[in-house]
Amino acid sequence: MTIKNNPADDVISIIVPCFNEESVLPAFYSAVSDAASSIEGAVCEFLFIDDGSSDRTAEILQHFTEKDERVRFLTFSRNFGKEAAMYAGLQNASGDYCVFMDADLQHPPALLKNMYHAVKYEGYDCCAGLREDRTGENPIRTFLSRSFYHLIGNACHLDMGDGKGDFRMMNRAMTDSILELKEYNRYMKGIFSFVGFDTKWIPFHNTERAAGKTKWNFRSLFRYAMDGMLSFSSAPASLPGFIGMFLLIAAVVTGLVSVFTGHKANWILLLVCLILALNGIQMIFLSLLGQYMSKDYMESKKRPIYIIKKKGGF
Ligand code: UDP
Ligand code: MG
Repeated sequence: MTIKNNPADDVISIIVPCFNEESVLPAFYSAVSDAASSIEGAVCEFLFIDDGSSDRTAEILQHFTEKDERVRFLTFSRNFGKEAAMYAGLQNASGDYCVFMDADLQHPPALLKNMYHAVKYEGYDCCAGLREDRTGENPIRTFLSRSFYHLIGNACHLDMGDGKGDFRMMNRAMTDSILELKEYNRYMKGIFSFVGFDTKWIPFHNTERAAGKTKWNFRSLFRYAMDGMLSFSSAPASLPGFIGMFLLIAAVVTGLVSVFTGHKANWILLLVCLILALNGIQMIFLSLLGQYMSKDYMESKKRPIYIIKKKGGF
């Protein structure tokens, strides 16, 4: 079965993770269908991933497939999370280009055309939306998210700034390199950054979701943040080392000062210094152990050591 009218057309796979999105799916489908029909030289297929919804999401998706041959969907046996849904989407997408979109219309469909232009004609491998603001979001979530992206940016040495999200169109080479990363704990923002490739950023303003509620609460966001940090950085394992070093130096300095200040040595203070120093040494060794373990953990992911973008003269 082909959805192409013209064999020269490209196929763009629109991958949409959905978790209890019954209230917004019809509006999403109609808005994205309209936007897709304005893209010259490409046809779009829809690949919805129903991430274990308990509402009418699956029923609505079934209805879409019955009336539109461009639509396919997968239903998970339970809620596996957005990252798993995105991976399943990539594995099942046959398009020359793949784009991720949230179902709630927070990713403007009008940008699809510009994204296709960038990856098809401007020499980019990827074109991604850069969310410029967080209008309409809970201010506490905004503060925590911004702090997290600042922290993870410094800890991981990967480009994962605030606003650089999942809304992006990628060519086949980039898509296939992401599929090569088979790790179980998938943190897509880190993975996009890890695989590299030339990305064009298109700014857009945040809007509130068209209908329904956000699927994230503080607990799930915290878990997500920890996953991201632990999947791409061993910085937390060095933390006890820094604290231990500080304790050791503070204990030695305080001990020496108390002995050499000319006063009678204060034995209780010296005992406290000794305990602190031993504690510091213990923490330094704990951190060393953590470093070895984190190296082993990163090895166990079996990430490619390099990714080739192009070959010439072979
Ligand atoms: N989503 C998902 N599985 C989940 C949580 C979310 O597939 O466990 C989907 C959700 O249906 C939506 C997208 O991921 O299409 C983004 O979710 P949401 O809008 O709730 O996140 P926010 O915009 O608040 O960050
Ligand atoms: Mg949303």
